[in-house]
Amino acid sequence: MAFKNFIDGQWLDSESGKTFENRNPARQGDLIGRFPASGPKDVDRAMAAAKKAFATWRLVPAPKRGEILYRAGELLKKYKEELARIETREMGKVLKETRGDVQEGIDCAFLNGGEGRRLFGETTPAELPNKFAMSVRGPVGVCALITPWNFPLAIPTWKLFPAILCGNTVILKPAEDTPQTAARFVEILSEAGVPPGVVNLVHGRGEEAGAALVRHPDVQLVSFTGSAAVGREIASWCGQNLKRVSLELGGKNAQIIMEDADLELAIEGALWGAFGTTGQRCTATSRLIVHRDVASKVTDALVARAEKIRIGEGLDESVEMGPLINQAARDKVARYVDIGKQEGARLLTGGAIYNEGACADGYFFQATIFDQVKPNMRIAQEEIFGPVLSVIEIASFEEAIAALNNTKYGLSSSIYTSDVTRAFRAMRDIEAGITYINGPTIGAEVHLPFGGVKDTGNGHREAGTTVYDIFTEWKAIYVDYSGKLQKAQIDNN
Ligand code: NAD
Repeated sequence: MAFKNFIDGQWLDSESGKTFENRNPARQGDLIGRFPASGPKDVDRAMAAAKKAFATWRLVPAPKRGEILYRAGELLKKYKEELARIETREMGKVLKETRGDVQEGIDCAFLNGGEGRRLFGETTPAELPNKFAMSVRGPVGVCALITPWNFPLAIPTWKLFPAILCGNTVILKPAEDTPQTAARFVEILSEAGVPPGVVNLVHGRGEEAGAALVRHPDVQLVSFTGSAAVGREIASWCGQNLKRVSLELGGKNAQIIMEDADLELAIEGALWGAFGTTGQRCTATSRLIVHRDVASKVTDALVARAEKIRIGEGLDESVEMGPLINQAARDKVARYVDIGKQEGARLLTGGAIYNEGACADGYFFQATIFDQVKPNMRIAQEEIFGPVLSVIEIASFEEAIAALNNTKYGLSSSIYTSDVTRAFRAMRDIEAGITYINGPTIGAEVHLPFGGVKDTGNGHREAGTTVYDIFTEWKAIYVDYSGKLQKAQIDNN
């Protein structure tokens, strides 16, 4: 099947006519479709449409824009199962998780729909008599939204719903591994009543379509989620050209298990955090920091359960862990397993490609656990983005926090303890954008800020109400009704 770009309400081929293939990572023989390999000319066309639409969309009252988002939420509910199946087929994670991914999009639509009646500014006393002072939010302009493949619907909704609620128009460049979910999503937005040109979709490779979009002089804001390497490149371009840029990048998240923890709960959390989405979440647990008094008990239980995880194509409801996204991702995971062994970590289970039966045609990898990992080893420092858990033993609470913070990233974190003092100290001292107490590192809710510290981003937070600081410009407004020239800081002194 041939898919197209969506520009100004029309489905269009790329100007060059070039396409790229999208295949099921669980079964390479399953060709999902061909998508336009877009370039600068397609971006130009999308930009012209987005600029034209901005002139009218910015004037639509925010509560009315919110009503359209509400309708989009209703339609996402209606098409939830269809979307989940499209996602699983093109990116591999199991159906339960892709249903969750769509649910996050639904939650995001309703949250933002409601916010259309708020989008609060401030009113404040003026320092001069007969003068009124307030601040209001306004749209930024045309926003470039560049998204990864691991949450093919949720991440686009996190960016797109607040962006258009605030009166911006957008050009979405989805990951080349998950273009079909994005295509269905913009189709649903059209059905919900989003006018032509407000949301434009340009498919293509990062270095071509993505780079052309970021570098377009009329883009006012780049909102990017993806790897730190690409984020850095985008940020440096945006820095030189004074463009707003919001980055959500990698993670090297850790879960701490103290000796006083409910071990059963902690083990369940670690398994879900490490192997959910085949470890391909930015918030995945890739380090487990365990108190030495309980370490062998924890690792024995983890290994026993990891070996029972059912691996296979996510469309099969009995499967618990799907494939990696592509060959390069699987090669990277295998490389890190070798690195771990060379560094002296002990491989407790897994560590190899999984190719039993029908899995031989996909990018499967076993659930893998290392122990005897030292905090400075590469497998404890670098983002692997696969089903590999590194267990680090510690002897005290202080050592646990130091090990957790010993990374350049700072997205999600977790501690299992029954000691309220330790819990509160962890909430204060952990360097991360998200901290869970007695819960795994994954499972963020859409009405709270999402993002991380250090190399995980550049200080912005998506979701919650903080996302509006990304997608709006503040304007301070003064109304002087004194009928005379009043001079601030001068007339009052
Ligand atoms: P990636 O950086 O390779 O690609 C992300 C997007 O950027 C894709 O759409 C890609 O086509 C595009 N792109 C690539 N090169 C580009 C360029 N030169 N210019 C413009 N666009 C370009 O990342 P990925 O492999 O798709 O995703 C995995 C990464 O994303 C991991 O590092 C993960 O931690 C991170 N991630 C972060 C969050 C978060 O919220 N912090 C969420 C999900 C994923």
